[in-house]
Amino acid sequence: MCHHTPLETIHTIEWMKQVSRQARAEGRSTGFVPTMGALHAGHMSLVHAALAECQPVIASIFVNPAQFAPTEDFQKYPRTLEADGAKLEDAGVDYLFAPEASEIYPPGFRTWVNVEGLSDRLDGKVRQGHFRGVATIVLKLLEIVQPQKAFFGRKDAQQARIIRQMARDLHLDSEIVVCPIVREPDGLAMSSRNAYLNPAERRAATILFRALDGARASILRGERDALRLTAAMRETLRTEPLAEPDYVELVDAETLEPVTRLRGVCIAMLSVRIGATRLIDNLLIEEREGALLPTL
Ligand code: AMP
Repeated sequence: MCHHTPLETIHTIEWMKQVSRQARAEGRSTGFVPTMGALHAGHMSLVHAALAECQPVIASIFVNPAQFAPTEDFQKYPRTLEADGAKLEDAGVDYLFAPEASEIYPPGFRTWVNVEGLSDRLDGKVRQGHFRGVATIVLKLLEIVQPQKAFFGRKDAQQARIIRQMARDLHLDSEIVVCPIVREPDGLAMSSRNAYLNPAERRAATILFRALDGARASILRGERDALRLTAAMRETLRTEPLAEPDYVELVDAETLEPVTRLRGVCIAMLSVRIGATRLIDNLLIEEREGALLPTL
């Protein structure tokens, strides 16, 4: 393995700001990949996209307490900082920003970013306050790192939509780049939370992909009726006894409001509990010259 540049890990906001200020002063175009760690090939695809377009590339690892509800998995969320650092270094990432929660949310912290409307539906309904936590940490990180481009995964389609809206509404200088979903060979979307699944749950978890893939096939055969498509997806999910859906919706990609018929750009959104683990996945459906193009 060739380690062209060693990875430099940065723990303080002041030091991170100084490094990014320096890169800007030198006229370099910084790429930024924010994550919560436990890095897998999905995260690394964002890193590779950043490396292809930017220099230097900065990744962050911060398990953001503000986006977890008190009942959620903040405590047991996988933390593998050492292995993550090795992956980032091998890929050629220049800096890893790993701040302390005590510096990000000091005593007396009271400013929150709320992207109205888009944050209340789907995952925002299942996870109250989740997207307020997400928007706030992403704005903070973008302010600290000041990247030309920031890279996000379409795996979290609602999150990507909300961050795009925030960047537009707050006149942020960073371009928001959304990258494709990376899947396991059997179709399961990669996620740090897949580590929670026992072998039976891991097998059951492919039901999300199978439901979306069925919708993709129907759409390619000409189906445009949202009710029929969501009913068929629910039917597929019902064949898996370990699967408990939270929502199955076909929404407009811009408003995230449900549609009755496919047109323009739509997204089929799934949230399904497999045992105690909540998984999400989605199918992007774009209309191009009258034809529907579904992408898993
Ligand atoms: P997380 O560490 O879960 O907060 O994810 C960090 C970033 O990686 C987010 O922009 C995610 O959308 C993205 N990501 C997570 N899983 C995948 C995947 N399977 N494919 C593509 N991007 C992903």
